[in-house]
Amino acid sequence: MPNSLVVIDDLVLANRILYRLGVVDGFGHVSVRHERDPERFLLARNMAPALVTAEDVMTFALDGTALGDPRAPYLERFIHGSIYRARPDVGAVVHSHSASVIPFGVVSGVTMRPLFHMASFLRGAVPVFEIRDAAGEDNDMLIRDGALGDALARSLGDGPVVLMRGHGSTAVGRDVREAVFRAFYTEANARVQADALRLGAPTFLSDREALRSSESNAGQIARAWDLWSRLVSETG
Ligand code: MN
Repeated sequence: MPNSLVVIDDLVLANRILYRLGVVDGFGHVSVRHERDPERFLLARNMAPALVTAEDVMTFALDGTALGDPRAPYLERFIHGSIYRARPDVGAVVHSHSASVIPFGVVSGVTMRPLFHMASFLRGAVPVFEIRDAAGEDNDMLIRDGALGDALARSLGDGPVVLMRGHGSTAVGRDVREAVFRAFYTEANARVQADALRLGAPTFLSDREALRSSESNAGQIARAWDLWSRLVSETG
């Protein structure tokens, strides 16, 4: 059923932008909290993000139940519902498998930290979700039910990003534009941190620098969004 909500336009753009930026490929997904009912969220049906249109968007309750829509949903929709339930401040969620972040979830003693100012929202150490802690050894790495979603949300805590060991990462924001910004610059930070670690011991942003920088950047997200949305609008 076509959806006329204002946030749908940004959600569709976000799917295409995240693909164009290399954050998602055939897999990964982005959701937004329902603009009139905070107990619901909007997420595409089970499909490649770059192909999502407004007609593909489904509505879910926070427990992951599709509302009046028989189409096949993403298996990992529980990532989104559990985070919205745990975090009233979150208005959008991006889940991806981008390769650059994977090393920081699998090497013990290596922690992702903000290395440059565009990733200053990462302030402090980025947490890593270990699915074995919630599901034991006999798991398929996927967040396939509400209990695993809740465990992931606990690992995220009150932060902007959680890495998922051997799987990917999940970024959140107050709205879809902030969540996309954070997903992209988490990926960028992973690349530059891996580069820097090959050269030696990096100097990370201090908590103070990260706080001040993220306050400065908060007003600049529209600039990136304007560029990215123009990019996908012109080239389809
Ligand atoms: Mn996944």
